[in-house]
Amino acid sequence: MLDGKVMVTGGAGYIGSHAVLALLDAGFEVVVIDNLVTGFDWAVDGRAAFVEMAVEDPRVPGVLAEHGVRAIMHFAGSVVVPESVSDPLKYYRNNTAATRSLIESAVTAGVPHFIFSSTAATYGTPERVPISESDPTRPINPYGMSKLMTETMLRDVAAAHPINYACLRYFNVAGADPQGRSGQSTVGATHLIKIAVEAATGKRDAVSVFGTDFETRDGTGVRDYIHVSDLAEAHVAALKLLIAQPGESHILNAGYGRGFSVMEVLDAVDRVTNMTIERRLEGRRAGDPAELVADNSAILKTIDWAPKRDDLDGIVKDALAWERALAERAPAERGR
Ligand code: UDP
Repeated sequence: MLDGKVMVTGGAGYIGSHAVLALLDAGFEVVVIDNLVTGFDWAVDGRAAFVEMAVEDPRVPGVLAEHGVRAIMHFAGSVVVPESVSDPLKYYRNNTAATRSLIESAVTAGVPHFIFSSTAATYGTPERVPISESDPTRPINPYGMSKLMTETMLRDVAAAHPINYACLRYFNVAGADPQGRSGQSTVGATHLIKIAVEAATGKRDAVSVFGTDFETRDGTGVRDYIHVSDLAEAHVAALKLLIAQPGESHILNAGYGRGFSVMEVLDAVDRVTNMTIERRLEGRRAGDPAELVADNSAILKTIDWAPKRDDLDGIVKDALAWERALAERAPAERGR
């Protein structure tokens, strides 16, 4: 399969920890590096090796050599869009500059495959939905730009060195491992489904609805929510393709190709919890487009992957189960 390990950066974080599970479940060997600024060491499955280190650390090439790493899945980075607007240099440091260093380490160590967690934020405000990979990329915030710059670096590096890559442009990632092994543990999360299940478990008293005057079916924002475990499996399938076709690289939307409005998501949360969670109607959040839905035809035909969990109630159910488990953890462990 792969004559060495897969390094997962940010493997102690939300999406990274699910990728670690998917890789291990598929029989890959894994080494995680994570600086634990937002991740949790307990989120790393015990079958993976763990090194507490930042991706730009000069010791990374040594770790790559020591573990015989043959592929990197790069999740580490900063992910809060409004913060990227108020502190752009943090995003160009943690996302763009740190990744430049990691790619250099990969080239130096002769790592032949690289998978990058990119984002639908690279498109900015789309001209049309569903959005296809060939549509213009005009990010409207530093977060999206910091990721697009990394895509550009990978393109140029792959043209100059023996490395191929896949960039997965994520739409809205939600849910948790259906077996309850990981989930979103981030403190101060801003994402809708996470916030709604926090409200369901009593961590919040209501959910704000940001904008009710969009040109959508009910006036609230429409997004393409993808289950984190499906997304994690897409990374494994993408890796297998990179191994099988060394000369080829790919940029692929990762979404289900259908959208739900904020109200529809909150209806699902009410259904699943059998509660009526209070909705506070508020103004639009800066920079929120009306609708982001993936054209996912490319990923469906390129990699050996099909969504298994395309079910909004199921996504909410898994997110809720994790939120409840998190609430039962010792506070000291949770907040570390
Ligand atoms: N949203 C909301 N209330 C919240 C968080 C989000 O109404 O507390 C809306 C947001 O305006 C957008 C959708 O839910 O239309 C998804 O937002 P989220 O922050 O989850 O992801 P984004 O699409 O911004 O990456």
